[in-house]
Amino acid sequence: MKHELIVLPYPANALEPVISETTINLHHGKHLATYVNNLNNLIQGTKFENADLETIVRESDGALFNNAGQTLNHNYYFTQFAPKSEGRPSGRLLKAIEEAWGSFENFRSEFETAATSLFGSGWAWLAADKEGKLQITKEQNAGNPVAKGLKPILGIDVWEHAYYLDYQNRRADHLKELWKIISWAEVEKRY
Ligand code: MN
Repeated sequence: MKHELIVLPYPANALEPVISETTINLHHGKHLATYVNNLNNLIQGTKFENADLETIVRESDGALFNNAGQTLNHNYYFTQFAPKSEGRPSGRLLKAIEEAWGSFENFRSEFETAATSLFGSGWAWLAADKEGKLQITKEQNAGNPVAKGLKPILGIDVWEHAYYLDYQNRRADHLKELWKIISWAEVEKRY
């Protein structure tokens, strides 16, 4: 099964000024494209040749896991943005967030803390267990909550390639800005 580079659901400049067109073009067109290309090369001749992406992430390790994980992670990442956020989720997701963190504002602050404090490269996720209970997970490198049996809901990339051109070392500032482009309508579909 050939894995494809996802098509962005918005023009490359649509997320400015939160994420620049240059960053989107490099992040999607170079970084993600390389992961997808490596993944397609690495599955050849293995038992994962016809496996779906989530199965590969759950069952592989080493270079194959890294490239499959990063492909899956970025598929979530790039499809969760819109030029203008609704500001907060509604319906079931909002209710579950309020149950877990007391308020949406408190969740946002806890999420930023998790993403800011992740050492090195990795991801911060909002994820749900089988009962729909939410948690924030911190994953190193290519990690994705599916490997822990959780359902990924929102995934924030804190590899420097995601923000360095626009924010240099100011990861926390980048994270604060990102809320302006989260498509909660899209994120809610994952819950
Ligand atoms: Mn990335």
